Amino acid sequence: MILKKFEELKSFLSQPRNVVIIGHKNPDGDAVGSTLGLKHYLDKKGHTAQVLMPNEYPDFLHWIPGSETVYRFDRQNNQSVKALKRSDIVFLLDFNALHRVGQDMKNTLEQYPNDFALIDHHQQPDDFEYMYSDTSMSSTCQMVYNFIEMMGDVDMIDEAIATCLYTGIMTDTGSFRFRSTTSRTHRIIADLIDKGAKNDRIHSNVHDSNSQSRLLLLGRALSNLQVLPEYKTAFITISDREKQEFAYQKGDTEGVVNYALSLKDIVFGVIFIEDVEQGIIKISFRSKGSFSVNQFARNHFSGGGHDNAAGGRSELSMTDTIEKFKALLPQYETDIQTSYNQ
Ligand code: 5GP
Ligand code: MN
Repeated sequence: MILKKFEELKSFLSQPRNVVIIGHKNPDGDAVGSTLGLKHYLDKKGHTAQVLMPNEYPDFLHWIPGSETVYRFDRQNNQSVKALKRSDIVFLLDFNALHRVGQDMKNTLEQYPNDFALIDHHQQPDDFEYMYSDTSMSSTCQMVYNFIEMMGDVDMIDEAIATCLYTGIMTDTGSFRFRSTTSRTHRIIADLIDKGAKNDRIHSNVHDSNSQSRLLLLGRALSNLQVLPEYKTAFITISDREKQEFAYQKGDTEGVVNYALSLKDIVFGVIFIEDVEQGIIKISFRSKGSFSVNQFARNHFSGGGHDNAAGGRSELSMTDTIEKFKALLPQYETDIQTSYNQ
């Protein structure tokens, strides 16, 4: 755990400030929940907080309180730059290095001599002025709860803040299933329910808003599943043609990789998704136990993330990417075989 200059940050925030809060590119539930949860808290403290996201996020996250106030850097560029210009401090939430916001936004951020304050649970964070980094945390939302607690303000958590933080903890823990879920996570969740988070509604808003075409795309993805039992590995592919066939919308492939990992005796699950616009294959890696997909993604696919959930990319074709992937497996055979699986 790294906690850098927290007392200085606390005293900086003892006067009203203009604050910008940023999440990573392709924001997920934890990025949206943590940025908006922090925004509601800081606004309530008398600051003026503006959330900026590099690009769009899925429809199933648009109901989150305050979502309508978010500026998208790629679409609302002028407003975003103005907010940055007048900001006294920029919070970076749910990512560990500036390149995770994309090249355009990174270039802009580097032009302003703002102080950055990082709150994040990813491994190997870059160094910023103020830092709260803890890779053992289930989610950045859990850390925002801790941050509010360290500020001495748990009593200020209201229904809006509780709803935002509940959402990100829920999505980043796979609904409280992953190893990062601790008794402390559950205690925080219990407190968020006491403070007004409507848990049944939140689960339903996130998980029960499928379109028929999304389910059909899932069906195709599952029929593309390939299993390599000798490496306890299973992978799924989705081509650009398949995305078009099933009227792909952002977020439609979220969580699909978990089906690969749901197979009995499989500890390494992967999905390869063709992205013609970016000219890459976007890859999600998931593992169970000690086999680190963060290292695997860093070493071979220009990515990273957490030990059990990471992402990366390949500039090869789908076929060549899969060939490359399969050729790497023998060198990880022992790591995969000895990764805990139950
Ligand atoms: P996902 O597979 O859901 O896109 O991402 C899983 C985890 O890996 C997330 O915590 C995400 O932030 C991280 N991640 C995804 N793609 C990348 C990437 O290209 N680079 C790095 N460093 N992390 C990534
Ligand atoms: Mn997260």
